Amino acid sequence: MADKPNLLVIGGAMSPPMQAALEQDFTLHKLHAQDDQQAWLAAHGADMPSVLTDGHWGVRPDVMLHLSSVKMISCYGVGYDNIDAASCAGKGIMVTHTPNVLNAEVANTALLLWLATSRRLVRDDKYIRDGKWPDGNAPLTHSVDDRKVGILGLGRIGEELARRLAVFNADISYHTRTEKPESGFRYYNALVDMARDVDVLFCITPGGAATHHLVNRDVMDALGPNGTLINVGRGTVVDEAELVKALADGRLGNAGLDVFENEPQVPQELFDMDQVTLLPHVGSATVETRTAMGDLAVSNLQQFLRDGTVISPVPECRDL
Ligand code: NDP
Repeated sequence: MADKPNLLVIGGAMSPPMQAALEQDFTLHKLHAQDDQQAWLAAHGADMPSVLTDGHWGVRPDVMLHLSSVKMISCYGVGYDNIDAASCAGKGIMVTHTPNVLNAEVANTALLLWLATSRRLVRDDKYIRDGKWPDGNAPLTHSVDDRKVGILGLGRIGEELARRLAVFNADISYHTRTEKPESGFRYYNALVDMARDVDVLFCITPGGAATHHLVNRDVMDALGPNGTLINVGRGTVVDEAELVKALADGRLGNAGLDVFENEPQVPQELFDMDQVTLLPHVGSATVETRTAMGDLAVSNLQQFLRDGTVISPVPECRDL
């Protein structure tokens, strides 16, 4: 039997079932298991026609330059801002990702962060654990019902979030580059105008240069001292230094954050703020959803090996 083709695995997201499925068709090489990754890449990078990676690691330039024979990159995750997909498409390299199978989970995480932040879930849990309840009731919080809600990024996940927000009788607006009249929601051409008009701003856009620091000081000030920012998109979309200042000064009321500019580093100043809820980038991190993402990432690799087609190419590679 002929040798199985090589598959380079970047990062540590491959679950045991994914590994078992992939080993049927590929010889696996784990980059992060190598002591000297650059030396290993220099020696073997040119022999890796397929790559499995995740949204965090992507395929960074210092790795990509060694992969001279790569034909297919499967990203376990929908965000692929750490893969230069336009350049890959130009060279005929297929890039796939895992859209749709995680929409509900990430929308749920956004809601969880909003509910926890508005109702001070973490503060009040600590209130009991610190033994404060016998001394008096916890301070009041604010309701999540009947709020004006702005969604920055009304894509697959943003639309799922909007559907779920109906339960809270939310008055929904959105900002994207292109208007989506079929959504039936109020469109804002300028993010800062939407921020001025809403109580809570949900951020669920991709990362990358086009969205870098879209949520800047002006947007935070427009959201204001009673406003809430929830970010489940990418940390780079929010100017994090300005966010820390705005929260410390009380110019912005509250924040619920699943993503950060320099993960896994999180600004220490946020740790003591009751008005902030922090999650370690777990938007899609349930057994069920990660299994579905893994199945799709694996199927893309297997199908490409079989007949050169894939199930879920990134938009840049749809015409390859
Ligand atoms: P989609 O591509 O379906 O939606 C993206 C939305 O963002 C679109 O409505 C798009 O509209 C809008 N958008 C893109 N660029 C801009 C811009 N420059 N200004 C304003 N709006 C913009 O993606 P998904 O909904 O599937 O996923 C969104 C992102 O969520 C992912 O790319 C990823 O970064 C993040 N994510 C985070 C997870 C987590 O664990 N926290 C898990 C999964 C995803 P238009 O093109 O008209 O501007």
